[in-house]
Amino acid sequence: MATLKEPSFRESVDLMFNRAVALLDLSPGLEEKIRVCNSTYTVRFGVRLRGQIHTFTGYRSVHSEHMEPVKGGIRYSMGVNQDEVEALAALMTYKCALVEVPYGGSKGGLCIDPRQYDEHELELITRRFAYELIKRDLINPAQNVPAPDMGTGEREMAWIADQYKRMKTTDINGNACVTGKPINAGGIQGRTEATGRGVQFALREFFRDPEGMKKAGLTGSLEGKRVIVQGLGNVGYHAARFLAEEDGVLITGIIERDGALFNPKGLDVEAVASWMRSHGGVSGYPDATHTASGAAVLEEDCDILIPAAMEGVINLDNAERIKAPLIIEAANGPITAGADEILRDKGVVIIPDMYANAGGVTVSYFEWVKNLSHIRFGRMGRRQEESRHHLIVEELERLSADKQLGWTLSPGFKDKYLRGAGELELVRSGLDDTMRTAYQAMRDIWHSRDDVHDLRTSAYIISISRVAASYRAKGL
Ligand code: GLU
Repeated sequence: MATLKEPSFRESVDLMFNRAVALLDLSPGLEEKIRVCNSTYTVRFGVRLRGQIHTFTGYRSVHSEHMEPVKGGIRYSMGVNQDEVEALAALMTYKCALVEVPYGGSKGGLCIDPRQYDEHELELITRRFAYELIKRDLINPAQNVPAPDMGTGEREMAWIADQYKRMKTTDINGNACVTGKPINAGGIQGRTEATGRGVQFALREFFRDPEGMKKAGLTGSLEGKRVIVQGLGNVGYHAARFLAEEDGVLITGIIERDGALFNPKGLDVEAVASWMRSHGGVSGYPDATHTASGAAVLEEDCDILIPAAMEGVINLDNAERIKAPLIIEAANGPITAGADEILRDKGVVIIPDMYANAGGVTVSYFEWVKNLSHIRFGRMGRRQEESRHHLIVEELERLSADKQLGWTLSPGFKDKYLRGAGELELVRSGLDDTMRTAYQAMRDIWHSRDDVHDLRTSAYIISISRVAASYRAKGL
């Protein structure tokens, strides 16, 4: 309701949780146990930089330990605060449960503007923050495994892993203390692209659901659909690029810190990204109309809106004016609880964050398993798979040599069929399967229960039921 005060991010998550849990038959005690955040550790530490001591504030929240380790990224941003970190930790619990990744939910954050520091300074700060968390087992392969989030990436994860291994020299599973590491430091192929790739797989699966499409008033395929993306960071960039290059969507709008680009014929995502790298923003990019007020472009006409930047960008102030019939939440919490209600009333279909951006944590899970098994996926089976394929191809070649049968092999068949899957193919296949299965679970509830009118409620129902089952199994 536009007259209501906007709740905080954590209150927003709680409101959405409450709406779903009311449709489940849980005891009030168990409901409360699942909703609350188990613990939040706040640390203030000093680092000597540029001749003086700078004090930083960081957090690590653990929302639910129904499964361990707990998992969730570490964010570097000036906006970090306890309320935000706790909301994000709760979302991690529901996200992991929904995509069947066997973790509890956690999140960390450091109140810092990383652009104000050079690489060496960031390394000192990151190592010191990591030291504080490792010392308390808030970074640990068996208990709490961070990953990248806003403002952090594989470089920071490599520093954290190294710091852990320096402090716990005898832990043979040290590399599994954090995910999202570079390939040469224990990472996995396809982790950087994973969240954006997951958004693409989620949209593809939505377009395979005729009833869902009907609810959004959309027809046809992804090809030619007009898409507006907010935020060309790691998630927005990969999602936009894959959707444009592989599914033929038109990226008509890109919203960034310094305004938005608009081109009804479609923007070249790679060209915009490279312009941003060399100019620090989208301003001045040729081949598009630039609008200083990025927020206004969120309200432009389009088929799919992808908020991929930060929380609360669609709120009580602008929800009424949003024109997109389908919104996929690539960021965590981009739609407030109040805006969610307005959009639902308008008939807008929302593919919720806890599903839409779960690709990151899914591939983090693959990386953690790889680190614990100390072997790359595909290393044992790849050549064996190839040699079995060889047998079939040889047989087919023998048959097609027989002129009387009149058989020929299609061009390229032999090469494609013979190639055994490497790590990247396996990661993408595991991610695709995860996104499809989770969507189908949400879809079944959304389309079959009269009291469930949206995908978010459906997602919460699944997650809460799974967390509840796991607490019950523990005897709680
Ligand atoms: N920060 C990402 C998220 O919000 C990834 C978390 C992870 O991989 O643990 O889902």
